[in-house]
Amino acid sequence: MIDLATATSVTSKKKDADYVFYELTRSICPQCRCVIDAHILLRDNKVFMRKRCPEHGHFESLIYADAQAYTANSRFNKPGTIPLQFTTRIERGCPHDCGLCPDHQQHACLGIIEVNSACNMDCPLCFANAGAGYSLTLREVETMLDAFVATEGHPEVVQFSGGEPTIHPDIIPMIQAAQARNIRAVMLNTNGRRIAHDDAFLAQLAEVRPMIYFQFDGFEAETYRAIRGEPNLLPEKIRALDRLASIGCSVVLVPAIERGVNEHEIGRIVQFGLAHPAVRGINFQPAFHSGRHGEHDPLQRITIPDVLNLIEAQTEGKFFKSDFVPVPCCFPTCNSVTYAYVDGDAVTPITRLINVDDYLDYITNRVAPDLAGDIKTALEGLWSSSAVPGSPKAAQVFALTCAACGLPDGGFDLSALTDHIFMIMLQDFLDPWTFNQKNVMKCCKEILLPDGKQIPFCAYNNVGYREQAREQLAARQHARVRAEREGVAYEPAPLIFSFNHGNGQGH
Ligand code: SF4
Ligand code: SF4
Ligand code: SF4
Repeated sequence: MIDLATATSVTSKKKDADYVFYELTRSICPQCRCVIDAHILLRDNKVFMRKRCPEHGHFESLIYADAQAYTANSRFNKPGTIPLQFTTRIERGCPHDCGLCPDHQQHACLGIIEVNSACNMDCPLCFANAGAGYSLTLREVETMLDAFVATEGHPEVVQFSGGEPTIHPDIIPMIQAAQARNIRAVMLNTNGRRIAHDDAFLAQLAEVRPMIYFQFDGFEAETYRAIRGEPNLLPEKIRALDRLASIGCSVVLVPAIERGVNEHEIGRIVQFGLAHPAVRGINFQPAFHSGRHGEHDPLQRITIPDVLNLIEAQTEGKFFKSDFVPVPCCFPTCNSVTYAYVDGDAVTPITRLINVDDYLDYITNRVAPDLAGDIKTALEGLWSSSAVPGSPKAAQVFALTCAACGLPDGGFDLSALTDHIFMIMLQDFLDPWTFNQKNVMKCCKEILLPDGKQIPFCAYNNVGYREQAREQLAARQHARVRAEREGVAYEPAPLIFSFNHGNGQGH
């Protein structure tokens, strides 16, 4: 029986939580990677993930530094597009059935092929944990490209990555193999070192001219020392960029932004990118604490709203926070992007000419269907993980949008327009502290593997796929080399992923 006197005194001690419970999702334990429930909480206009592993206790991390934007962004969640084929079955449950399994909610806008695990650098911050391991053969890559075409029909973008893909002896034939298939754009993700120093390689690159995703973290020696382990990298970076300009390659700068290291360099990176003849855009990435990384405080990490605030504060009115709109093809809190028309010093973000929010709002559908038409389709082409600045397709889409909203007088020369379009994207990958199964289930950036599997990037890097794939691909390579030496037939072993940490519900 309740003692009323005690009950009253207990009642008088009740107090409100200092947060709003927003939603329940699933995540992983940062220590054992076991799948556990996670609570999304709103506090002080920020968004946090709180979770508890039965074995390793409580974890809390900052996932978005603007709760108002986080909750409002749900309107940018576009219905997914189903791939032509799924490549795995639903057996163990997400995220252990990749993929793509029939539960997945989006096709692959971008397929990533990591051609090797080795690198010519040794960065302290490296989600790929680059080092010895494997190197794919051209034949394997061709098979992977064919599998990607089978699931996508006409794939949007293939990105060659690593390790460092430029040190792979067959990277040029691999790029050619992708270009020979039904794939709209081919990218090369690089630290630029070989491009800066190898004339013969530069000449080969000039023949194929992929879009270059270029690691560029800032200008200061301390930035490069902290993030790349080498303080004097800037001259090499500038040399590589200038050489890329000389062969007509388009570049997207990819700066990793780490708290307390290079936040103050964001504006200067934007100014530099706008002025450099090779650079067509920037993809700012809050430092990704998966794979190899130093100590960090998950409650103090940089998130997309932090980078947006810093862009606004450091670009002298060129870009405002309000110029950026979430990318709707994946989960809208994963990426935000804007495009600007650049003419000398004049920078005009497209969001100041047309209300992009209204066209990409999938909840209220505020734009009347008869008005939406081509403009909505055009904006969806730009606000996509598969948008490639510097490509004729991007220029085409921009031309249509601008013709409708009145930017310089219609009648566009597409190749001239391409030179005036500048993209700034922000991409916050999920780490073991922020991993959200909801985001991963609608991920549109997949790692392609030699057996045809496609694994969402943030699942690949967090739940154990990367480590297992690397070990098995290295073993396959050893077996192949041995078979070739002994003159016997080689049959690659299938890639098999197992997860001892299970897919249970934590508490
Ligand atoms: S992330 Fe996608 S492909 Fe992987 S298990 Fe989950 S739903 Fe399936
Ligand atoms: S971050 Fe890139 S450049 Fe640095 S070690 Fe890793 S793969 Fe190499
Ligand atoms: S790669 Fe990660 S952050 Fe990017 S869309 Fe996929 S789940 Fe989201």
